[in-house]
Amino acid sequence: MRTKFQPVNIRWRYLTVALLALAAALFLLPVLGKKDHGACAAPVLNKQEVFIRRNKSTEVHLRKLSAAQRKKVSWHCSDYKVVRLTRYRNTVRIYARKSGQALVWATYKSRRYFCTVTVGTGRRVSAQTKLWIERRDRQAAADQAEAAKKAALAEAAEEAKKKVPLLMASPTGKKILIVCGHGQGDPGAVSKWGYESTYTRQFGTLVAQKLQQSGAFTVDLFNTSLNLYSQVKKVVTSSMTSKSVIQNALKKNPAIPDLTSYAYILEIHFNAKEVKDPDGNGSYTGIGYYVHGGKSDRTIERTIMNTIADSGFKAWGGYVYSELLNARVCQALGVNYALLETAFIDDGDDMRFYTEDKENMATIAANAVTAYFDAKR
Ligand SMILES: [Zn+2]
Repeated sequence: MRTKFQPVNIRWRYLTVALLALAAALFLLPVLGKKDHGACAAPVLNKQEVFIRRNKSTEVHLRKLSAAQRKKVSWHCSDYKVVRLTRYRNTVRIYARKSGQALVWATYKSRRYFCTVTVGTGRRVSAQTKLWIERRDRQAAADQAEAAKKAALAEAAEEAKKKVPLLMASPTGKKILIVCGHGQGDPGAVSKWGYESTYTRQFGTLVAQKLQQSGAFTVDLFNTSLNLYSQVKKVVTSSMTSKSVIQNALKKNPAIPDLTSYAYILEIHFNAKEVKDPDGNGSYTGIGYYVHGGKSDRTIERTIMNTIADSGFKAWGGYVYSELLNARVCQALGVNYALLETAFIDDGDDMRFYTEDKENMATIAANAVTAYFDAKR
C-alpha cells in the first residue's frame, strides 16, 4: 500500500547514498590527487570546435593547469562581430552574436590554443579570421613535424638499444668467403616476399661487411652476379671425389676463386616449406643450416643458429646434407663450409623478423665466425 510519505523516504535514501559517496570521495581525494599529473601535462582545450546558435552561448576552458597557472591564461578572438567573450582565468564563455565563423583562442606561455566557433550557418568569415585560420594551421603543421621528429628520435634510441654490438678482433690472417646462393638466372625459392636470390645477396653482403669491419679477416664476397653452384657444376662432375681431381677441375673455371685459401666458407640461402604461410600465422619456422656429414665441427653454424634464435627468432635445426654439391666439394678440399638457411621466404612471420632484424642477424653471424677464430689462435 502506498503512503504519502514514501517519496520522502526515497529522497532520504538518495541523500544518504549521496553523503556516503561524498565521504568516500573526500577520503580518496589525497590518493587520487597524487596520481593526477594534470599540472605538469601539456594544457589542452576541452573543445576545439563549437557550434552555437545565434543568441546562445557556450563555455570553453583550458584544461590541465594548476590554480596558479590558470591566472596566466588570456583569451582572444578573431572576429568580435561574430562572438563576444566573457573571460575568467582559464575559462571563457562565448556568446553568439551574428552568423559566421571565428577563432577563439587561449594564450598561455606564448602558445595559442585554438577553438573554431561556428555561429548559425557560419558563412561569414572575415579576412582577419581567415588570417588566423592560416596561423592556426601553420602551428598545427609545425606541431605535427615536431611530434614526428620526436617519434623518429625515440625510435632511433630504441633501435640503438636493441643493436647487437659487433665483435672486434685483431687480424687472424685468415680469409673468409661469403657466398650468396642462387642468382645468374636462378631465383631460388619465390614467394610474395620476392626472390630468394635477392635476399641471399642482401644478407650475404651484410655478413661480409660486418666480418670485414671486425678487423679479424680478409673477407671475399663471391661475385654476386654469379651462382657458385652452377659455376662449380660446370667443371666438377659427380664422379670426381679426390681432392686433387676436384682442385684441378675447379682451376679450369676462372670465375671460382681458390676455395682452399679460405678458413671458412658460408653460403647464404633462404628456406621454403611444403605448407606455405606467406602472410604469417603468428609463429616462426626459423633459421637453420646444412653441413656435410663428414664435417664434425659445427660450432660456428650452431652458434649462429642458436644466438639468432635467442634474439627472438626460432631455431629450425641443423641438418646433414652430404649431396649438396658445394658442401661435397669443400669437404673433399678440406675446407670448413656451411650452408645457412637464414629464414623461410614463404613464412610471413620469418620474413617480417628478417626484415626488421637483418642487421642484428648479420652481426650475430659475423660475431660467431670472429669468436671461433679468435679463440683458436
Ligand atoms: Zn636456396
